[in-house]
Amino acid sequence: MLGIIGAMNEEVELLIAELRERRSNTQAGVTLHSGVLDGHRVIITEGGIGKVNAAMTTAALIAAGATRIIFTGVAGGVHPELAVGDLVISTDCVQHDVDVTVLGYDLGVIPGEALSWSADEELRAVALAAAREQGGLRVIEGRVASGDQFVAAAERVAWLWQTFGAACTEMEGAAVAQVCARHGVPFVVIRSVSDTADTGAKVDYREFMPQMARRAKLVVRAMLRRLEREQVEPAPNGA
Ligand code: SAH
Repeated sequence: MLGIIGAMNEEVELLIAELRERRSNTQAGVTLHSGVLDGHRVIITEGGIGKVNAAMTTAALIAAGATRIIFTGVAGGVHPELAVGDLVISTDCVQHDVDVTVLGYDLGVIPGEALSWSADEELRAVALAAAREQGGLRVIEGRVASGDQFVAAAERVAWLWQTFGAACTEMEGAAVAQVCARHGVPFVVIRSVSDTADTGAKVDYREFMPQMARRAKLVVRAMLRRLEREQVEPAPNGA
């Protein structure tokens, strides 16, 4: 079963509204909406902002039966060629705010973990094709750098680019990726660029976020049309 997460209402509300046979269930602070979307049985959730919320929600989705996870939302562009409206499909995700360097670890490395968690090849390929289907948009594959910070400074953008080779920055993707990796669950992150994480980010984000959140959602719908339909069976108990 496919799990779909967005951090904010704007990122998932239209998907939830279009669920057939919708059932909603709140447990341990996480509300999961299950049903059928474009012939796929899915579970969708608004996970909340930041890495802790994203990790908690991902674990709940997996416990409820998600076997593949798609994150959909907006991000600040870091790759120099990215502008508002472009799309990023994750190759892998890092946590840019992790710093245990004083003990000899590389920046971004959580002791005992890899620096980055790779997105699933098949989901990446389907997301890329679905994104290109939108037409007239720049679509790049690249690294998603997550941290519990809204980045709004050109120096920080340059640092993210030079240190991690990040394509975009946001606040959830790597937490989803880390939890998925622990469970062996394939994932991909789709981010529509709402701002370029520099001094204009606050204004751009406020202006463009709702529209860009819808754009990422369209990519998810196009992905569902392309993904081989699983047999739509009755919902498992409790989902
Ligand atoms: N919902 C609140 C808070 C949004 S925080 C509001 O709109 O006021 C920003 C959200 O957008 C996070 O979910 C994050 O993943 C993403 N995001 C977009 N641009 C970002 C940037 N420049 N830096 C970090 N996160 C960004």
